[in-house]
Amino acid sequence: MVVASTSCLDVGQRRKTLKIDSVKGFRFIFKSSPMSDDDAALQVKSSHAKTEEFVCCLSSLHPQDSSSISSVIYSPDDSSYSSVLGSTIRNFRFATQTTPKPLVILTPSSVSHIQSTIHCSRKHGLQIRVRSGGHDFEGSSFVSPVPFLLVDMVSLRSIDIDVVNKVAWIQSGAILGELYYRLADEADTLAFPGGLCPTVGVRGYMSGGGYGLLF
Ligand SMILES: Cc1cc2nc3c(=O)[nH]c(=O)nc-3n(C[C@H](O)[C@H](O)[C@H](O)COP(=O)(O)OP(=O)(O)OC[C@H]3O[C@@H](n4cnc5c(N)ncnc54)[C@H](O)[C@@H]3O)c2cc1C
Repeated sequence: MVVASTSCLDVGQRRKTLKIDSVKGFRFIFKSSPMSDDDAALQVKSSHAKTEEFVCCLSSLHPQDSSSISSVIYSPDDSSYSSVLGSTIRNFRFATQTTPKPLVILTPSSVSHIQSTIHCSRKHGLQIRVRSGGHDFEGSSFVSPVPFLLVDMVSLRSIDIDVVNKVAWIQSGAILGELYYRLADEADTLAFPGGLCPTVGVRGYMSGGGYGLLF
């Protein structure tokens, strides 16, 4: 969890006074990069400043709700950051020390959190990766070669089934196993032609999967 502690109005001022020395510890990120150390330090500085501005932007859009928005933001300084990031990674080739990591992870708990994230990321020039079940074979839901935010849909996983009309409304974070369970609970006559693996995300399956017991 991240708290936008210091005044957002100070961000520009603090950026001017940030010492290059204070970011040298992050040089390893650019180990294989042809950039000079100074360029690398500047890029890290710029990413940090953008992250700070992004968090301030989010907080400013949720003034009545600041504790709620803070509780869904994880920065690399946060003790939960690594466990949240690694929670659904299946391909460990993309879970190494040198794998590019998100500047911030967000686990939105309402649609308004997602709207604000899109607004603030565009405003501050940050790219977004969206993760549902996290089973993407190439890690495209949580890795990017450019500075990025990770929006993890894990907290938005409701499943509403209209048995009469045979329609289901499923939030992006739900996994196939949850859908099978709910379907079996609601009706004996309905099924979803999903995958064999119950932990695949419904959202990713819709766009990328395709084989299962009914295929
Ligand atoms: C262990 C394992 C078992 C598998 N078993 C099966 C199987 O039995 N049957 C089968 O057909 N397939 C299977 N697959 C493949 C799987 O269906 C695809 O990899 C699927 O795309 C994973 O979906 P996800 O939501 O879990 O992944 P994610 O990594 O979360 O997402 C996959 C892609 O969708 C994008 N995405 C996710 N959520 C959103 C969103 N809300 N908006 C926009 N884009 C979004 C991500 O950015 C990423 O590019 C399996 C994969 C693994 C690793």
